Amino acid sequence: MNKAIFLDRDGTINADKHYLHRIEDFEFLPGVIEALQKLQSAGYLMLIITNQSGIARGFYTEDDFLKLKCWMCEKLSLLGVKITDVLYCPHLPDAKIEKYRRVCNCRKPALGLFEQAIEKYRIDLSQSWCIGDKIRDCSLVEKSECRGFLIGNNEDAAVIDDVKKGKYRNVRYADNLLQAAEFIIGEEKL
Ligand SMILES: [Zn+2]
Repeated sequence: MNKAIFLDRDGTINADKHYLHRIEDFEFLPGVIEALQKLQSAGYLMLIITNQSGIARGFYTEDDFLKLKCWMCEKLSLLGVKITDVLYCPHLPDAKIEKYRRVCNCRKPALGLFEQAIEKYRIDLSQSWCIGDKIRDCSLVEKSECRGFLIGNNEDAAVIDDVKKGKYRNVRYADNLLQAAEFIIGEEKL
């Protein structure tokens, strides 16, 4: 069994810009590379799980998304970080592009992509974590032994406040990915 970090992409790894899809607009958030290096050294698989409704909305194509994904993974690989997989949902129930118009089971908070990854990479959820800037990135935490972090300021202030007050079981708050990574690694040493 493997342990994993289920990472959101936009707003967690890179700055969340409106339906980002151009390589030249992609910007790693501060501390992200260091955070990923540390988590990898601690033995976690890196699984990116991302909603990409911009594909359904016709703002960019699946191919645009895949090109950016390859570029990002290569960039990280040069810095010593291996992304095990990137799983994405291109759907929306009212999509402009018909091909992607459906009520799917993979758009977070739905768990479809998590379930695929858990099976394919034999993930032990009791040793794994979800990290994202929206509470829906931690939907797996509610349903399993997996723990999670909500990071940054992109979620509603009331939700952030509730997370800080401990109202979401097993979801903690951190300012950014590096802070979350340091907590996770600190926890391992206990
Ligand atoms: Zn989907």
